[in-house]
Amino acid sequence: MQDPQLSEPFRLEALYGADTFSRQMMQKRLPKQVYRSLLKTIDHGEPLDPQVADIVAATMKDWAVERGATHYTHWFQPLTGSTAEKHDSLVSPDGQGGVIYNFSGVDLVQGEPDASSFPSGGLRATFEARGYTAWDPTSPAFLLRNGGAATLCIPTAFVSWNGEALDTKIPLLRSMEALSRQAMRILKLFGGDTNVSRVVTTVGPEQEYFLVDKELFYRRPDLVTCERTLFGARPPKGQQLEDHYFGAIPPRVLAFMSEVEEELYRVGVPLKTRHNEVAPGQYEIAPLFETAHIANDHQMLLMETLRRVADRHGLKALLHEKPFAGVNGSGKHNNWSMSTDTGVNLLDPQDETHGNTQFLLFLCAVVRAVDLHADLLRACIASAGNDHRLGANEAPPAIISIFLGEMLSDILDQVEKGIPKRTIRGGTLDLGARTLPQIPRDSGDRNRTSPFAFTGNKFEFRAVGSTHSVAWPNTVLNTIVAESIDVIATELEKKVGANPTPAKLQTAALAVLKQLVKNHKRVCFNGDGYADDWHKEAAKRGLPNLVDSVSAFPVLKSKKTVDLFKKYGVLSKAEVDSRFHITVEKWVKQLTIEGETMATIARTMILPAAIRHQTLLANAVCATEGAGVECTDTVESLENFAQLVATSRRALLGLEGELMHESDDSLKHAEQIKAKLIPAMVALRGSCDALELYTAADLWPLPTYRELLFLQ
Ligand code: ADP
Ligand code: MG
Repeated sequence: MQDPQLSEPFRLEALYGADTFSRQMMQKRLPKQVYRSLLKTIDHGEPLDPQVADIVAATMKDWAVERGATHYTHWFQPLTGSTAEKHDSLVSPDGQGGVIYNFSGVDLVQGEPDASSFPSGGLRATFEARGYTAWDPTSPAFLLRNGGAATLCIPTAFVSWNGEALDTKIPLLRSMEALSRQAMRILKLFGGDTNVSRVVTTVGPEQEYFLVDKELFYRRPDLVTCERTLFGARPPKGQQLEDHYFGAIPPRVLAFMSEVEEELYRVGVPLKTRHNEVAPGQYEIAPLFETAHIANDHQMLLMETLRRVADRHGLKALLHEKPFAGVNGSGKHNNWSMSTDTGVNLLDPQDETHGNTQFLLFLCAVVRAVDLHADLLRACIASAGNDHRLGANEAPPAIISIFLGEMLSDILDQVEKGIPKRTIRGGTLDLGARTLPQIPRDSGDRNRTSPFAFTGNKFEFRAVGSTHSVAWPNTVLNTIVAESIDVIATELEKKVGANPTPAKLQTAALAVLKQLVKNHKRVCFNGDGYADDWHKEAAKRGLPNLVDSVSAFPVLKSKKTVDLFKKYGVLSKAEVDSRFHITVEKWVKQLTIEGETMATIARTMILPAAIRHQTLLANAVCATEGAGVECTDTVESLENFAQLVATSRRALLGLEGELMHESDDSLKHAEQIKAKLIPAMVALRGSCDALELYTAADLWPLPTYRELLFLQ
């Protein structure tokens, strides 16, 4: 008999990629020349031969139909931040009692969804609704299974009739090209492996999320509408005991996680870790890193899968950055690096780091990029949800700085002073007990408070929000680093010409590095990012501190940003503008929805419950006094309670007043919301949360934090 303990990994191995039209599947099923021709498109960006498309389509259709697919969809990522699909049937009746298959090369390569229903941020007027989806052959097609139905999903890019990018994928791909072009110049100077033809960016996003019981979820209109609690008094036990982090996973949650893993394995998402996070009810799931745009496609699938599968287990997955006040929020740590197409990680420092000039150049390119564009990095992760998280004492501060760790900081110090001569080593850690092994120690400790940390052989951008698509932050990262590499390569080429001797290159590179360190070391900070001292120090160093989204938004449309994207062919001015408008409008809409939801809950649920409780107290006073018993205590609590009710009602009126405000200029509207609506929301929440503490539990209309966070 098979050992059930053993069978699990084997089962997952068999499942991995089973529902993707993978390279292996294409190789197995396509005629040799067709496969070869397709590879030229996938790996080298050569134009697709229409005949090849027809054959690929027929083969893909057979593969999908054999696996139970009835429909196909072009799967794309419009600027809503989520994914979109429009299903077409793969088969239809032929009118003679049989069926015909409808899936040609044209169906595979191009689609035309009605683009007018997606946000374009002013790129098109509604009457100019044409938008096309175009097959991205570099990202494998897959089957999406739900409720017994299987749909063939074809990853596509989404573009307008006049060629403007209406999605998040096109700019990401363009930014990867830009970075590759520049990075190849450095590699060429160093004359390494001649088989390298491209540099790709690699991304591994770690996803944090909360789980709550589904029934409780539906009894909270704020969770249903806004995915975050707008009310809720702190429970006596939150995360003070820190007993949830890495703790044992509850059985229902484990069953959910296993199913998520199984589904994601089927569509080829290479999952790696799962564990409890810091807050009660909070978890994390992380895949292995992949090429940036594939990692992004898989990240979108991962978020959808978490939501879909949770539902089947009587749970709801909350991906919001801050579903609960008072406990940690959720982020998405975006691990990022650059690698050759032969698989060499360009940010791997290797043993004798101080002598690894090529690595130091790429490292300093990132340092320079983050220093010069800290404001843009901050702005690209600005959102209503992330406003609750950044800068709070649990998430990265809004000041963007880089953690390099002791070893690299020491080498950069040496570079600044002269020729670097040593690499500090971690040595080994003696655990002081003979039965335990000596373990190698990393050369530096981790720093959890940095928004942008070097973690051994990659950077980890930790300020990304848990609901965000990683496409945009990585588009920004790739572009700013491409610019820095461009500047560095130009300088080097000027100094040494096209085919330098190693010695000449070394001297020139050290001079360039020295200047880079001098100019940009201010952005490096290894200390505690939460400390007040750092805020003062950062201000002294001239680092921007864009405390909230509204302060960061203008960066998205600044001349500096527009010029940068234009220069590297990533976004035109119109495309940048559209992203600015969509981001700000989304923020305004979210806040308005939250404000309105709050007002409704207060008006129709909380205040009526409070009045009931007040009546209870008033009746108690009447009855007690009627019975001739003195009850000044109860009178006093009635008075206090009635006052709290009055305060809440006034706060509600205040909020309702602020909700009347409208504006055609979305940035002005956002500023108004920040100045007036948000404080009104805070005030209403304050008094209503106080009411929760005094109202009889059986009268309180909303599931409490204790129930939401601990009933799993
Ligand atoms: P840590 O525990 O330090 O956060 P892990 O090694 O568990 O690091 O990796 C976290 C994430 O970083 C994973 O998704 C992993 O695949 C990803 N990662 C590792 N190496 C790279 C790389 N070269 N480029 C991008 N992401 C990477
Ligand atoms: Mg990590």
